[in-house]
Amino acid sequence: MSKKNITADIPILMYHQFVENISEGGKIKLFITKKKFQWQLRILKFLGYETITFKDLEKIGLENRNKKKYIILTVDDGYKDNYSILFPLLKKYNMKAVIYLVSGIDYNKWTIESDQEKRFQLLDLKEIKEMQESGLVEFGGHTLTHPSLPTLSDEALYKEIMEDKTILEKKLGENLTSFAYPYGHITPRVKEIVKNAGYKFAVSTDTGTGIIEDDIFDIRRTAIDTGDLINFLKRISPKYLHYKYKKYGNKKFEDKK
Ligand SMILES: [Zn+2]
Repeated sequence: MSKKNITADIPILMYHQFVENISEGGKIKLFITKKKFQWQLRILKFLGYETITFKDLEKIGLENRNKKKYIILTVDDGYKDNYSILFPLLKKYNMKAVIYLVSGIDYNKWTIESDQEKRFQLLDLKEIKEMQESGLVEFGGHTLTHPSLPTLSDEALYKEIMEDKTILEKKLGENLTSFAYPYGHITPRVKEIVKNAGYKFAVSTDTGTGIIEDDIFDIRRTAIDTGDLINFLKRISPKYLHYKYKKYGNKKFEDKK
């Protein structure tokens, strides 16, 4: 099959926060209830999906990624509920996730400043280590303070991307494989620095073609929020991300430094 005929790829889902009850969530509705998430994991099991991480994908090899029903669950920002709600469910169903940490602060300073959001605590190192040791969670970079990267000077970019990576790798005792662009804001300059930092993959939100090998530093993801079952089934279709690209194209961001 020639490259341009490929219209399906591994589904890559994007989550943020997990709550027991809707009332615990913030006003920016970036959360899913435990009950709904548990149903989603059961559906993925039932449909025969195997959850993998980016390190797994590297081992499997990009060329072999469609030989089984793989799916990647990604979780942005590293909220405390990832330990209290997500992690027990991953253990229960023996499923994996990739969590992108904001490592220079210990709460959601960026959404408090932009949207007067409620205060949410982020994961601490002890929780991160325990999740890492389980083998079910892989951690990736998501900067020190969650800025919109195209607005930064080169010096600030190096700090937010490279310094963050070095510090996290020292804490975790292993190399980070993937990076998530805060807000999905990506420009060629930002991408270049992420590449130079030594990441193997980088995930975006509303950019990328939905086909991983087209650009492994602009891997499109599907946001899973409070949607219903039908919506979820639609969004885990291997054709969904490419369909979104065909329909909406790429969101453009410009460097403002
Ligand atoms: Zn984020």
